[in-house]
Amino acid sequence: MKADTRPFKLPAARLESALGDAKPPYSDSEALIEANRCLYCFDAPCITACPTGIDIPSFIKKIATGNLRGSARTIFASNMMGISTARVCPVEELCVGACVYNGLNGQPIQIGRLQRYATTKALEQEAASSRPLFTAARDRGKRVALVGAGPASLACAAYLALEGVTPVIFEKSDLPGGLNTTGVAPYKFNTEDSLQEIEWLLGLGIELRTGVTVGADPSLLSLVESHDAVFLGVGLGADHTLGLPGEDGPGVWGATDLIRAIKNRPGFKIPADVGTVLVVGGGNTSIDIARELAMLGVASVTLVYRRTEREMSAYAHELSGARRYGVRLRERLRPVKILRDGERVTGLRMSDLASASEVDLACDWVVLAIGQAKITSGLVPEIQFDDHGRVRVDPKTRRTQHPKIFAGGDCINGGQEVVNAAADGREAAFAMLKDWGVRPALAPTAPPAAMTAPLPAAANEMTGGT
Ligand SMILES: Cc1cc2nc3c(=O)[nH]c(=O)nc-3n(C[C@H](O)[C@H](O)[C@H](O)COP(=O)(O)OP(=O)(O)OC[C@H]3O[C@@H](n4cnc5c(N)ncnc54)[C@H](O)[C@@H]3O)c2cc1C
Ligand code: SF4
Repeated sequence: MKADTRPFKLPAARLESALGDAKPPYSDSEALIEANRCLYCFDAPCITACPTGIDIPSFIKKIATGNLRGSARTIFASNMMGISTARVCPVEELCVGACVYNGLNGQPIQIGRLQRYATTKALEQEAASSRPLFTAARDRGKRVALVGAGPASLACAAYLALEGVTPVIFEKSDLPGGLNTTGVAPYKFNTEDSLQEIEWLLGLGIELRTGVTVGADPSLLSLVESHDAVFLGVGLGADHTLGLPGEDGPGVWGATDLIRAIKNRPGFKIPADVGTVLVVGGGNTSIDIARELAMLGVASVTLVYRRTEREMSAYAHELSGARRYGVRLRERLRPVKILRDGERVTGLRMSDLASASEVDLACDWVVLAIGQAKITSGLVPEIQFDDHGRVRVDPKTRRTQHPKIFAGGDCINGGQEVVNAAADGREAAFAMLKDWGVRPALAPTAPPAAMTAPLPAAANEMTGGT
């Protein structure tokens, strides 16, 4: 077990550094102009559209008046993952999509970019001064164990730390951050930036132990016994496979494995003889990997989906973004066999659902982006799962059936967004604090985000069977 190994060491020469920033940061004047366009709406729809309910008009007003520290505090009060969510949130579907300017035929306010500006500048000011943005309350003598160092646990731990509770995060990987570090497309948020955010969060008073898989040793039960509460932020498991003939062997990738290699594997390159890639799936992960491959110079990248474009769970703005890099879509095709010449992949045989015939498409690699497994073992008997393998929690408190165990993020929603994980972490922290009679000083302005029930299908998965 390795205790907190800051600063984190990244492997050199990572392929993700070849991918630039899709939405570069605002300059001071750009931010001021954009902030001054905001109408500071009463009952602002942008707030309601945010799963963490950030007081958006208020943080934008503070940018317009030069109060960047106040602006960042407003953001973090509702969302301690305000640095990453500024970059990774699908704002087109959330706050920006709800901005009143959309109904006025105007350009909606670029809320994510303003959030990035405020948080970046405030952290720079904090580093240059001796005035921390936040000061933790006195030690309350409580310890909480958090399993997994993804956005859900990090958000939960940050709120606890600020209230004088000691959070201890156990992470199986050597690098913390979960999918923010290993999965999010590098042109949105790269590994370095994710680790910088985590260093800032840990500075609030969070203990981190990397290289520890909670399960056998330590067991979840032992953590429950030795801590005042436990938070499960374990996310999802390995990429799903299709079980097709020819699937095992080189040239067939799980999407998250390939994305992780692009982001973090030292010296990883796309071989020069890989010119055609087929990506199977219809969710956001399939779009991300297809666009990354196209941006990295793969000549032909095609998404193959078993239904129609209209039925894809991926966001339309993500698909059109990928199309700008030449990614194509073939609809109503269901894979039946990976074709190989010896070890080498040569194509994918598919059932064409429109014509009820079979079609072979030539390719060098096949990438499977058909969802990730749910983690359903190594837990305690009290923890229940729903029919989709998601950990069951109380929708307000995120408490499981075990009174001391809470859960949040992808393991309870099946795979949504970083902002949902951040909201879950916050609500679990507030519920624990309530149990101990602590009223959080840092309370968000909007009412707590209750989970919607039943949960929508996970946006990152290809919904339904193949
Ligand atoms: C390819 C991909 C791209 C995505 N892109 C975006 C995006 O652009 N924008 C967006 O908002 N969302 C995106 N998402 C979704 C988002 O990343 C997740 O919703 C979010 O990271 C979930 O946070 P989490 O904390 O629940 O889980 P995770 O981020 O998965 O973190 C879970 C952590 O728990 C650790 N862990 C698991 N089991 C154990 C154990 N037994 N012991 C110790 N540690 C353990 C894991 O190693 C991991 O670090 C993407 C998802 C994928 C797959
Ligand atoms: S809806 Fe748009 S204009 Fe109104 S407060 Fe929100 S960001 Fe500003």
